[in-house]
Amino acid sequence: MNYLQYYPTDVVNGEGTRCTLFVSGCTHGCRGCYNQKSWSFDNGILFDEAMEQQIINDLKDTRIKRQGLTLSGGDPMHPRNVEALLPFVQRVKKECPDKDIWVWTGYKLDELDDYQRQMLPYIDVLIDGKFIQEQADPSLVWRGSANQVIYRFKV
Ligand code: SF4
Repeated sequence: MNYLQYYPTDVVNGEGTRCTLFVSGCTHGCRGCYNQKSWSFDNGILFDEAMEQQIINDLKDTRIKRQGLTLSGGDPMHPRNVEALLPFVQRVKKECPDKDIWVWTGYKLDELDDYQRQMLPYIDVLIDGKFIQEQADPSLVWRGSANQVIYRFKV
């Protein structure tokens, strides 16, 4: 898996101060997508062991307390990204059990297959659905368009 951007301290992609990872690769092709560069799985930088460790270290950092980890993209729930992210979210929940995990995906919750659904036990908040330009509304919180749903599984 490649990632496009990592923000070790982020206050705009979920509640509280967070670590945010934007992964590469998305096949939804939404008209009006805010970042078409995120569509290619080949763009960005390899998500390697060192990057994984850096995020864990940042989540454990006591000088700037993080509420949790945000995964966005691209689409973190694309099966190609789930392959890398499933062991990662398992590790985050094991090593940083007090941190919440927020995920933005272009899939509807009920479109996720059994493979993708393996991620769900580790996700606290899921924002689902494609961006639909006709339903775009800048006044929405955490959502770009009104069709998207915020699922608070745990928080
Ligand atoms: S799901 Fe998100 S990243 Fe993918 S095309 Fe739609 S708006 Fe862009």
